[in-house]
Amino acid sequence: MKVINPASEEVIAQLNATTAQDLSQIIKSLREGQKVWGKKSVSERLACIIRFGELIQENLEELAHTLTSETGKPLQQSLNEIKGAQNRIEHLQHHAEKWLAPETLVNSGNTHEKIEYEPLGVIGNISAWNFPYNVGYNVFLYALVAGNSVVYKPSEFASLTGKQFEKYLWQTGVPKNVFQCVIGTGELGQCLLEQSLDGYFFTGSYKTGLHIAQAVSHKLVPVQLELGGKDPLYVMEDIPDVEQAAINAAEGAFYNNGQSCCAVERMYVSSTIHDEFVEALVTEVNSYAVGDPTDLKTYIGPLTRAQQLEVLKDQIADALNKGATLKTGGKQLDREGYYFEPTVLVNCNASMKVMREESFGPIIGIQKVSSDSEALELMKDTAYGLTAAVFSSDRKRALQVLDQLDIGTAYWNCCDRVSPNVPWSGRKNSGLGATLSAQGIRAFVQPKSYHLRP
Ligand code: NDP
Repeated sequence: MKVINPASEEVIAQLNATTAQDLSQIIKSLREGQKVWGKKSVSERLACIIRFGELIQENLEELAHTLTSETGKPLQQSLNEIKGAQNRIEHLQHHAEKWLAPETLVNSGNTHEKIEYEPLGVIGNISAWNFPYNVGYNVFLYALVAGNSVVYKPSEFASLTGKQFEKYLWQTGVPKNVFQCVIGTGELGQCLLEQSLDGYFFTGSYKTGLHIAQAVSHKLVPVQLELGGKDPLYVMEDIPDVEQAAINAAEGAFYNNGQSCCAVERMYVSSTIHDEFVEALVTEVNSYAVGDPTDLKTYIGPLTRAQQLEVLKDQIADALNKGATLKTGGKQLDREGYYFEPTVLVNCNASMKVMREESFGPIIGIQKVSSDSEALELMKDTAYGLTAAVFSSDRKRALQVLDQLDIGTAYWNCCDRVSPNVPWSGRKNSGLGATLSAQGIRAFVQPKSYHLRP
């Protein structure tokens, strides 16, 4: 399988793809390995994960360059991601033993009732390329600590990084028959669905997620889906500093080239501050350094996948046809690599694709609103339910809006943010189940209840 650098369009590596036959053997060996791994203590398993985190940080520079070379993520953002993902490991270090410990609920007289948490077995992790450290760690590290073995299929656009995970996990003492990274395209993902696994944990698009849920439904095993979003931001007129709000909003929309599941994908701005806000936002967006992702000053690199360029062009053409105004950007850069200009559209409305369909690129649509109720109705009008944000100096007023939305995560005066302390989950077309926090580790175990009569 060829790995292409999206900044140069050059083939930078060729990897042996895993075949369907290899996959059957791998899963057989993972099943054997899990029997031993699942019996180890949580602290023994955790020790490997902690060492893994150390190895990753020791090799930070090299790993960041690998990530940048295959995804086009600006190097500074690759460094940020790898450093930031370490917080999952610290969180596990502090809490995993407590979360996985047996619980005694009743122990009086002749009644003893307790719960033990047993691993699921062999789980499949089909992952995305946009934040391979964050979304990978959310699944495979938690699964390993909980005593499962893991077959990890990175996206074909993050395969080199996936292979690094495998290399360093093995170095820490995680056996080869407990973690395996398999290499291939969606076809290999499809082969995984045909294997007998004890759980499927997927990060990716709604379309593929739905397909996976349907394809494995007859197995009656846990299926968890972390899918896309069309996350709204509502900027109220009472914000203390319009310019700062615009800078923060732009970061929420354009960080990682807009290729974040929880990127701000549409903005609603109070009419009284709309023009001032848009001006500040456009100034900020125009100040972004666009170019070579290996340059530490670059903020916008190439898109990871060439095909997304067409999605962006189509959304812009559709918006302009329906009455939107282009404030900046709007086209692919005339150079090698999958570069697209950071783009701001105003006078948008809910009939436009840019306000309804996931853009997953450096483009934002803005709509003027004149009341909280109007903003709320527009924010609600979506098939997705990942996150939503409100910028306001009035917490009560912001929460009145956020409380009424069918979303997994609500942000007041922040956005595009994930923390290991709280569950990460999507509703509606944004997914099923949760990662992170105590709930995130419970996803990888099954409770066994004991009723014991002494
Ligand atoms: P895709 O759905 O295209 O791919 C996700 C994974 O599924 C990849 O590993 C892919 O392989 C694999 N795959 C493709 N077809 C099949 C199939 N038939 N059976 C099994 N596996 C298959 O998503 P993207 O890679 O484009 O990821 C971007 C999407 O992920 C966005 O919608 C984004 O919002 C979402 N996402 C959600 C997150 C969340 O936490 N909610 C976090 C990060 C991203 P291959 O790539 O090799 O084709």
